[in-house]
Amino acid sequence: MGAVVEWKIGDVWTQKEPFYLPVGEEIQLFEAAAAGRLPVMLKGPTGCGKTRFLEYMAYRLRRPLVTVACHEDLTTADLVGRYLLKGEETVWVDGPLTTAVKRGAICYLDEVVEARKDTIVVIHPLTDDRRFLPLEKKGEVIKAPDTFMLVISYNPGYQTILKDLKQSTKQRFVALEFDFPPADYETEIVRREAGINSDVAAKLVKVAGKMRTLKNRGLEEGVSTRLVIYAATLVKHGIEMLEAIKTAMIKPITDDQVIQKSLEEIAATLL
Ligand code: ADP
Repeated sequence: MGAVVEWKIGDVWTQKEPFYLPVGEEIQLFEAAAAGRLPVMLKGPTGCGKTRFLEYMAYRLRRPLVTVACHEDLTTADLVGRYLLKGEETVWVDGPLTTAVKRGAICYLDEVVEARKDTIVVIHPLTDDRRFLPLEKKGEVIKAPDTFMLVISYNPGYQTILKDLKQSTKQRFVALEFDFPPADYETEIVRREAGINSDVAAKLVKVAGKMRTLKNRGLEEGVSTRLVIYAATLVKHGIEMLEAIKTAMIKPITDDQVIQKSLEEIAATLL
């Protein structure tokens, strides 16, 4: 048995429209890439809206979305499929990538850099003119329909020389760059997602903005929009602002108590 692969398929027909607030030209660019059958890379820090954007685009394009959370034990068989023993028989079970190709879906390989290089190679023929998926174990090759689209996410902030996508992989994708939304956009996102008033949202976003300027000075990554929404959710459920900030925006991102204390002090001056 190979490693467990975590994946899901979103059904566009029963789902309601996901809320997505566009920040730039990303919708038009993605639509053009989809029309031209180009693979797309979503670049940017964690929790800044990449997955939500893709859920929205899948809905907009009326295509199912197959999402795979990549990790270092992910094998080619996890993506493509394998023979499994069922009773006396061995039956072939499609993996998420094969399912996506067959259904003409958007296949989203989240945090693809986590996957091993020999696993990633299986996507190469799907990313160029050939648009096919080899099922080596089955001795079959399946051709991707026009609606099939490959999307990967990639966080350049985490990368080291040891863990980076190979140029031969990178250069197969057009890249859409994401970052934390501008303050007024992020305020609107936090207000809507957490269901709180604009004043509270604006204050939390201001604290997040200040904290993000401290990146690289002890903080690996800026506080994500997701965490700002969590803080707002705590406030909505009766937690006092500073406590919510500590719990949702400070403690998750650093274990260093000295840094935690100084972030708390910064937050307190902004409230
Ligand atoms: P990523 O995939 O980049 O790690 P997500 O897409 O999961 O991050 O974003 C985290 C959360 O932030 C989403 O669940 C959503 O609530 C919110 N979000 C971020 N950007 C936007 C946006 N532009 N429009 C709507 N929601 C957003």
